[in-house]
Amino acid sequence: MSASASDYHTIAGRLAFPSLAFIDGGWQAAASRRVYENINPATGAVIGTVAHCDAADVDRAVAAARASFEAGAWSRAAPEVRKAVLLRLADLVRAHAEELAVMESLDSGKTVKDCLNEIGHEVPTFFQWYAELADKSFGKVAPTGEKTVAMIVKEPVGVVGLVLPWNFPMLMAAWKLAPALAVGCSAVLKPAEQTPLTALRLAELAMEAGLPAGVLNVVPGFGETAGQAIGRHDDIDVVSFTGSTEVGAYFLKYASESNLKPVGLEMGGKSPMIVLDDADIDDALIASAINAAFWNGGQNCSANMRQIVDRKVKDNFLQQVLDKTRALKVGDPLDPATDIGSMVSAEHRTRVLSYIEAGRQEGARLLAGGGISAGLPGFFVDPTVFDEVAPAMRIAREEIFGPVLGVIGVNGLEEALQIARDTDYGLHATVFTSNIDKALHLAKRLPCGTVAINGFTEGNVTTPFGGFKRSGSLARDNGTEAVDQYLQTKTIWMSLR
Ligand code: NAP
Ligand code: MG
Repeated sequence: MSASASDYHTIAGRLAFPSLAFIDGGWQAAASRRVYENINPATGAVIGTVAHCDAADVDRAVAAARASFEAGAWSRAAPEVRKAVLLRLADLVRAHAEELAVMESLDSGKTVKDCLNEIGHEVPTFFQWYAELADKSFGKVAPTGEKTVAMIVKEPVGVVGLVLPWNFPMLMAAWKLAPALAVGCSAVLKPAEQTPLTALRLAELAMEAGLPAGVLNVVPGFGETAGQAIGRHDDIDVVSFTGSTEVGAYFLKYASESNLKPVGLEMGGKSPMIVLDDADIDDALIASAINAAFWNGGQNCSANMRQIVDRKVKDNFLQQVLDKTRALKVGDPLDPATDIGSMVSAEHRTRVLSYIEAGRQEGARLLAGGGISAGLPGFFVDPTVFDEVAPAMRIAREEIFGPVLGVIGVNGLEEALQIARDTDYGLHATVFTSNIDKALHLAKRLPCGTVAINGFTEGNVTTPFGGFKRSGSLARDNGTEAVDQYLQTKTIWMSLR
């Protein structure tokens, strides 16, 4: 029998929340002894305090990471040794999935349903997949002729700084840690200030799986202090960041003002969904449109919030989208029947509401939602649909990162493509058409890292994920490409006598 809301509330009541930093294989208070309050955004209640790490703690974490990297117990271990540890970690995450999912839900306002899927399935898959890659990656021998042998080998880059957002806390940790650890790097990870809990617990589980002390350090804290200290640290070899475009730009500045470390950036988006007049407006398409907009309460970097629909099918499309939107259940994230939990914080909700107001002011037509969900504690926003959104409006151009869908009517493929391309971002797009030539024409002409055809998806562990333009750097998470962020290329040239 599947668990009920009251089962999850019972688990929540029994949970112990991590509150310290995890440095050099153990729990440590911030050097300053300071803590900050962690709030459950679905109730507004304080659920605990967390170490408020700053530059001094990042220094300690980097020193531990460097020492572990140089000692070599992980960085120079046989690949099958790293594989075995990461496979054990995948199993441990699976075994603790329920506890971790409830913890993440309380920490973030995400629904327990989504947390269970991410933590019970996706996170272990990531550790397993990169574990399996560890002992199946080969170097190359260059074609240099009779008198020489030139080997091209990959080596772990060293100490990596991983800075994460709050929308998929444990999944983003896995996206970066799994490939970084699989190739032998040591890591200093800063979770988002709102959602530190599961990353801290993951560090503890990694030790239980057999990861040597110092290889994974987690420093909860704030962007301006702990985040900036990672960005500017001279002994961090690479930073991989996921978050907003604004903060991604800071990391380029930090790197240029310190040791010129490479910076991998996965950033924001304002992704289009195009529905052509020959698309089948069936249940599957509508489910995709709803999922693309409202999954995770719209707090999703690849959310398709500009739904560009041919006018010949728009009325039909919109009516079905509205019916489904109004049926979405907003409320207690620990209730498995809930579709949309709370926004991550009061501050974020205010920002989302300000965009809804901007949509109204600029003349878009509000058809569903439009405000705070009635009768709920915490920081909820109703799923909101605007029609008659014009491409120049703020709600069509700026990333809202909340449940605010804008529908734009167009006449034909070329107008749809022109509007879809007209953005500073380039993370994702979805295309619906029954014509394969049109589908591939659009896929080739859309400047973004992922194009989904006839179904919204971000891909899976096997497919690289990242953005064009202001959505990302050349670095990619996921797929075999992800390990490139954490590897150096070395040539060993041998002259034969
Ligand atoms: P954010 O404000 O950019 O924060 C991301 C991380 O950077 C947090 O750990 C944050 O710490 C830290 N940070 C903030 N200011 C900093 C500074 N001045 N120096 C150094 N570090 C700093 O993003 P967010 O609000 O957490 O997440 C939402 C954004 O992430 C959206 O734009 C979304 O599109 C993007 N995102 C992208 C992807 C992708 O793969 N492309 C995936 C998920 C999310 P604090 O927690 O203290 O602010
Ligand atoms: Mg929290």
